[in-house]
Amino acid sequence: MNTAKYTPLFAMLLFLVIFTALLLNTLAADIHWGYSGDEGPANWGELSPEYILCADGSAQSPIDIRNASELDLVDIEFHYGETANNIFNNGHTIQVDVDPGSHIVYNGITYDLLQFHFHAPSEHTIGGEAAPMEIHFVHQDPNSGTLAVVGIMLTEGDSDNKAYAAVFDHLPAEVSAPEAMGDPLSLASLLPEARTYFTYQGSLTTPPCSEIVRWLLLDNPVALSAGQIAAYRAIYDGNARPVQPLGKRDLLLDSGAATRA
Ligand SMILES: [Zn+2]
Repeated sequence: MNTAKYTPLFAMLLFLVIFTALLLNTLAADIHWGYSGDEGPANWGELSPEYILCADGSAQSPIDIRNASELDLVDIEFHYGETANNIFNNGHTIQVDVDPGSHIVYNGITYDLLQFHFHAPSEHTIGGEAAPMEIHFVHQDPNSGTLAVVGIMLTEGDSDNKAYAAVFDHLPAEVSAPEAMGDPLSLASLLPEARTYFTYQGSLTTPPCSEIVRWLLLDNPVALSAGQIAAYRAIYDGNARPVQPLGKRDLLLDSGAATRA
C-alpha cells in the first residue's frame, strides 16, 4: 500500500474530527438558557445533552422547605475574612467573586468560598412561601470538586443594610466583567448572627443542574431595605428556578433552631 497517497486523506479526516469537536464544544458553551419561554426552566433539559439532569435528575434544587426532621447537627464553621467587591453581571444574576482565603468547615471538610450571587424572588420556599430574594454563598471542596452552598433568605426591613451597601450601590445593569467597586466587604457581616440551618443533598439551580451540592439553608433571614431589593429587581426580577420534588431525600433541620430566641 502506498501510504503517501493516503496521508492527505487522513490529515483531512483528522482535521474534520477536530473541527467538529471544537464546534460542538463552542456550541455547548453558547447554549442560551433563561427563566422564561422556550429557554425557561421547563425546557432546560432539552436545550443540550449536557443539561439532561435538569429534566431527568432525582436530586434537584431548589425545594420547598417543609416537614424537616429535627436532628442535633454539627455547626457550620464560618471562616470568613474580607474581600474586594469584585462585582459583575453574568447575564443570569449579579455575582461577587470572593478573594481567596475565606472558607467554611462542614463535617470535617473544608470548602473554599468562591463567590456569592442573588436570586429574586427566593428559589427555596419555606412552607410554600418565597422571600423577596435569596443569596447563595458558593463553596467548593478543592479535593472532590463538590460544592456546599449556604443560602440565606433576604427579607424587607426598615433601613438599608450597611453590610450589603457596597454591593447594592454598584449593581451593574448590563453584562460585565468582574471589577472591584466601592469599599471592601466584611463577609461575616453579610450573615445573620444565628446560623442554624436546614440541609439536604441537591443540585445547581442553573444548567447543567449537576447533583453535587450540599445545601445549607440558614433558617434566619437577613433584612435589606425596600430600595436595595428594588435596585436588584430592576435588573433581575424572576431569576429563580421553580421548586423541585424532594423525592426520597432527607431534609434535616438543626435542632438548635428550635430553641433560638
Ligand atoms: Zn444561586
